[in-house]
Amino acid sequence: MIEELAIKKWQDHEGMVVASDNGFDVIGCGLCGFKHIIPIPTVDELEHVYQHDYYKQEKPLYLERYQDDLEWWNMVYVRRYETLEQYLPNDQRSLLDIGSGPGFFLLNGQERGWQVQGIEPSIQATEHSRGLNLDVEHGFYSEQTAPELGAFDVINMSLVLEHIPDPTQLLTLIHKQLNDNGMICIVVPNDFNPFQLVLRDHLDFKPWWVAPPHHINYFDFNSLSSLVERCGFRVVHKESTFPIDMFLLMGANYIGNDEVGRACHSKRMNFEKSMSDSGSGAMLTSLYSAFAQQGIGREVVLYANKL
Ligand SMILES: [Zn+2]
Repeated sequence: MIEELAIKKWQDHEGMVVASDNGFDVIGCGLCGFKHIIPIPTVDELEHVYQHDYYKQEKPLYLERYQDDLEWWNMVYVRRYETLEQYLPNDQRSLLDIGSGPGFFLLNGQERGWQVQGIEPSIQATEHSRGLNLDVEHGFYSEQTAPELGAFDVINMSLVLEHIPDPTQLLTLIHKQLNDNGMICIVVPNDFNPFQLVLRDHLDFKPWWVAPPHHINYFDFNSLSSLVERCGFRVVHKESTFPIDMFLLMGANYIGNDEVGRACHSKRMNFEKSMSDSGSGAMLTSLYSAFAQQGIGREVVLYANKL
C-alpha cells in the first residue's frame, strides 16, 4: 500500500512524514538533518515516561538477561575499547559513560586500566553499578551536572541519543567537556534501514521500530555522521552491529515474540563469539564496517574525534 506523502511543520521543524504512531508523526526534518517525532516532548513530559521506564527496568529480567549474556557483552566491550585505544594516545584513558546502565561497560574498561565514571538516570542501575564499586552519579547529564563530573578523554553514549529532545544541544555540551584530542563513541538504533524498508514495503511489516514518545529521534549512518560533524567532531570510524532484522527476512518473526527473539539473539551471540574466540575479530570489524557502508545493521556505532 502506498501511503499519501505529506509535509508537516511544528515550530521550526519541517519535513516529510515518514511514519505516524501513538499520536506523533515522524518527519525527515530539514532543520535538524535527521528524522524525529513532532511534537517533540518537553523535558517534563519525558520525566513521566522515564518514571514508567524505571519501573520496567526495575523488573529483575533486565539485569538477569545482562548477566546471562555477560560473556558476549564483554566481547563487544573489549572490541569498543580496542577501537578507542587505536585512535587515542596512551596517556588518554579517562572515560565517562552517559546512561551507563548496570555498569558492565565501565567495569570492563576499569579492568583494562581505564579511569572510568558513569552517570545514569535509573536508581536501580546506579545502585547495581555502585555494588560493583564503580563511580556512578545518579541523574541526567546536563549543563548543571556536567561541570561537577569534569573533563574526559572519551565520552560514551550507548542507546541514549534517540531519547533526547535536543541531541544538538547535548553533543555541543559533550564537545565542551572533552579534553583536547578527545573522542566520542555513540551507539544508536539504525532506523528505516534497507532491510526494514523491504520488510515494511514488500512483506507487510508495520514499522515496529517507531516507538514514540520513547524514541524521539530516528538516525542512520549518514544523519548521525552529519549531526556530530555539525557539533565540532570528525568521524574516524563507523561500524554496524549485527543486522538482526535479517532474521525477519529469513522467516523468523521475532516481533512481539520474546522466545523467538531470544533464539535469534542467541544465534547472533554464537556467531560473534565464534569469530572472536577463533582470533577472527578483525574479520568481524571488516564485515561490520562494510555493512555500515551499505547502511545495514541494527545499530550505528560511530567513533569521532573532537576538532
Ligand atoms: Zn527538527
